[in-house]
Amino acid sequence: MTTIPYSRQDVSEDDIAAVAQVLRSDWLTIGPVLPAFEAAFAQRHATAHAVAVSNATVALHLTCLAMGIGPGSRVWTSPNSFVASANCALYCGATVGFVDIDPLSRNMSVASLQAKLIQAQAAGLLPDLVIPVDFAGQPCDLQDIRALADQYGFRILEDASHASGASYQGHPVGSAFADATVFSFHAVKILTTAEGGMVTTQDEALANRVRSLRSHGITRDASAFEQPSEGAWYYEQQTLGFNARMTELQAALGLSQLQRLDNMQAKRSALADRYDALLADLPLRLPTRLPDRKLAWHLYAVELIPARTSTTRAQVFDALRAADIGVNVHYIPIHTQPYYQRLGFKRGDFPVAERYYEQALSLPMFPAMTAAQQDRVVACLRSALA
Ligand SMILES: *Cc1c(COP(=O)(O)O)cnc(C)c1O
Repeated sequence: MTTIPYSRQDVSEDDIAAVAQVLRSDWLTIGPVLPAFEAAFAQRHATAHAVAVSNATVALHLTCLAMGIGPGSRVWTSPNSFVASANCALYCGATVGFVDIDPLSRNMSVASLQAKLIQAQAAGLLPDLVIPVDFAGQPCDLQDIRALADQYGFRILEDASHASGASYQGHPVGSAFADATVFSFHAVKILTTAEGGMVTTQDEALANRVRSLRSHGITRDASAFEQPSEGAWYYEQQTLGFNARMTELQAALGLSQLQRLDNMQAKRSALADRYDALLADLPLRLPTRLPDRKLAWHLYAVELIPARTSTTRAQVFDALRAADIGVNVHYIPIHTQPYYQRLGFKRGDFPVAERYYEQALSLPMFPAMTAAQQDRVVACLRSALA
């Protein structure tokens, strides 16, 4: 029996040809394909600016810096995420806090956020930035979080690493409500450039700061110089930046993949519909669908309902792995990681995220997955839960 992975990149002959064409060209980096990818991504996500960088972790870090996050700043995120959603604040010298999740959407709970804001205001400890995460490709409650941001004066950096192509109230994720949005193009994500990330924003000044930070804080734009130009060779370093550039090879792969985003999305969505139907009678809580948003289906995450089965999550996980099915678990709550416990967090701090984690399983989900593969996953799950 062949292994069914939990995720697999979808690379077409066109993708390969696009990358090969770059290899034969004059520019392997800092060439024409990167701006073309950025422009196409911005257009697809209905946003004014898109800035590509080497990965989404770097995208989160640079956007925090570009928003002025530094020592003394307070940043809050969701514990049900990959560690990068929180680490980005620590890179800047800020402190991190977490807001527990909603048990159905598995995203940051607006009620918990509001309660924490009221307490923080009384203590004079309001956050500067909130990083909600679109878990599994489900857009977070952007309109409500925006209203709280306007009331309490924090900015929103949406971690849409799972959500390329998702939409909320008819707006593509990355276009509205958040001050900036980050996407990941890691190999397991919706679109891939092997490694890669993108920042979208409607704020031109913010986009320019991220652009500057991705390339050493250097500008060659004469209209932006602080000192008189000394000649055509002249450039200025004006801030402390990094080398966080995306190569032309990666941009070519991303641009080619982007042409198939809707097609790949439709396949994921059909698989999700089929899982919903095939799993309906099992002791599992299936992903919640909300009428005002379209999921990207990066993950199909289910939860065991312990009151209805005596099989444990570990037993189901092991049974599927033993059958060569690449089931996974997303996420170990960030605050329970040893590093975060050393910062003062402890088990019990965010009980909804912890309860979700204890029962969670991410089932295989990728565009090329066949009905036969899906049937095998469902049969194995059914027998493990019997
Ligand atoms: C994958 C992921 C990241 C980091 O993305 P990279 O491109 O691998 O750096 C950040 N946040 C979330 C929620 C992710 O899933």
